Parts: sequence; structure tokens; C-alpha cells
Amino acid sequence: MAGEHQIAAAAALIRGGGLVAFPTETVYGLGANALDAAAVRRIYQAKGRPSTSPLIVHVESVEQAQALAAEWPEAATELARWFWPGPLTLVLKKSAAIPDEATGGLPTVGLRMPAHPMALALIRAAGVPIAAPSANRFTGLSPTLAEHVRASLGDEVDLILDGGPTVVGIESTVLSLAGEEPMLLRPGAVTRGELEARIGHVGVAAAPETGAAHASPGLHPRHYAPATRLILVEHVQTPSSGRGVYLAPGAGLPAEPRAYAAALYATLHELDQQHLDWIAVEQPPATPEWEAVRDRLARAAS
Ligand code: AMP
Ligand code: MG
Repeated sequence: MAGEHQIAAAAALIRGGGLVAFPTETVYGLGANALDAAAVRRIYQAKGRPSTSPLIVHVESVEQAQALAAEWPEAATELARWFWPGPLTLVLKKSAAIPDEATGGLPTVGLRMPAHPMALALIRAAGVPIAAPSANRFTGLSPTLAEHVRASLGDEVDLILDGGPTVVGIESTVLSLAGEEPMLLRPGAVTRGELEARIGHVGVAAAPETGAAHASPGLHPRHYAPATRLILVEHVQTPSSGRGVYLAPGAGLPAEPRAYAAALYATLHELDQQHLDWIAVEQPPATPEWEAVRDRLARAAS
């Protein structure tokens, strides 16, 4: 676990335009000063991520978030009160403080206050908001352990803060409040039902046009994928040839959706080391509590 002196060193790196990988409750992030365009460009270089994919800007307070948004609707106040700190990213019209580099050129910014003491301590110590996508190469599996970051981006980052395994294990829910009606851009740990209980009807974003700046990189059809071929199956219909592993709720992964999500990427990272021909994953039930997991599995299999 990173101590106080490490947080101070990491904060100094962030202020100096460096890259720091840090734990959040969802996955590990690859962070840079969100207000420094050159530092933000280093994130894209390190990940090999197209510059049209916007980043999530992490804040340590609602006040800091408000300073980065051009408009702060009532729904943002309500959702921040219920779900921050936590795995919910709010997309809002951006203020001039946010460089275009951080938003893939979009006029909106994704803002989130993470529920992880080390992440919050880092943002506070740095004194600036921290732009951070997941700390992995573009389209790859998100890291849920410091070791995953080291294996994928070890040479590219200035420092990795180790906070042990992340508890949520899949990326945040992304909700846009920048349009006419609230729109779910990416399902995540906070479910649509939980959002609707607070702000009423939430629409669903259509897949993006290719070539255009993506409204949400979470909408890329292939994303969150292991190197090994991942296939989605039903009723244990696994391939008849080759070497592989079968996963289902209660078989190689936990039966309960939250525990399943927390274990999913670490399990896939591990299986990826085994030079298998396939990983067969049983399609979980089409029920609300499995929505985020089903979304990630569909992209991993794409
Ligand atoms: P990652 O978790 O690395 O895939 O990256 C960040 C996530 O940020 C994406 O999946 C998007 O859903 C979200 N995001 C950040 N900023 C915006 C924005 N301005 N508009 C839409 N989505 C955003
Ligand atoms: Mg990612």
C-alpha cells in the first residue's frame, strides 16, 4: 500500500506534467493534470488511444467538479449527493478550464469523484483535477491490480500507486446530462434503476458513427478485451476443439453480479497468461443487475 510520502511524490509528478497510475474503486487509472494539455497528450501516447476518445476527469469534491462544468443542472446536484464519491461519471458541458485534449475535442467533459482514499488523497495533494482513463493499452483489459498496470504500461508511467485489488472491478457508469434528456452512455456499477429512482427516465445512447468523435469511448464495439479469443456461449455450448476454459456465474466466477464484476478482469488477465485457444463465457441473465457485466462481455467478445 502506498503511504503518505508516496502520495506526496505522486502529487509532485502530476503537478510537473507527469503520468501516475493510481487505484480507484472501479479500475486503476492512468492520471495526468487535467488542466495541462501536454500532460494529457502523454496519456494518449502511453495508451495508444485515439485522440478522439474523451477521458474522465477525477475530482475530490463537488465544488471542484462545478468549476469544470459550464452548466451544473439540478440532476447533477441530486446524483452527486447520492452517488459521489462513487462509480458514476457525469457528462456535462465543459468550462474553458478543460483543454480540448482531455475531451477528445467534445464540448462536454466527463466528471467523477472516485470512492478510493488513495485517489482522493492524490487529487487533493496535487491541487488539480486528474484526467484518467483506465491504465491499460487501448482496447485491452482494464487493470484491477497494480501488477496489471506494470505488465501493460510499466515503462510509460512515472509512478504506480499500489492500492491492492480494486473492489468494483468494472468501469464507472457514464451518464450524460449535457443533452435534452439524461442518457446512459455506458452501463456500470450504478444501475439504470438506481439512476431513475433519483432523476426519472434515463435514455440509452445509440452506437456512435464511425470516424466521428465518440460520445463515449465505452461505446467502441471492441474494448475491454483479453488477447485470448473470448466467446459468449449459452447452455455450456463450448467449442469442441482446442484448449479452453469455461466460465459462468458460480463456475470459475462468483454467482452474485457484484462479486462477479469484481473478479471478472483479474480472472481474464490470469487466463490470458495460459496460452489458451479460447475462453468460453456463459451469457449471464438479461436482468438489470447483470447489465454492466453483459455490456463488457459483449465488447470483450467483439
Ligand atoms: P476508459 O474508462 O479508459 O474507457 O475511459 C473513459 C470513459 O470516459 C469512457 O468510456 C467514456 O464513457 C467516458 N467519458 C469521458 N468524457 C466523456 C465525454 N465528454 N462524453 C462522453 N463520455 C465521456
Ligand atoms: Mg479503458
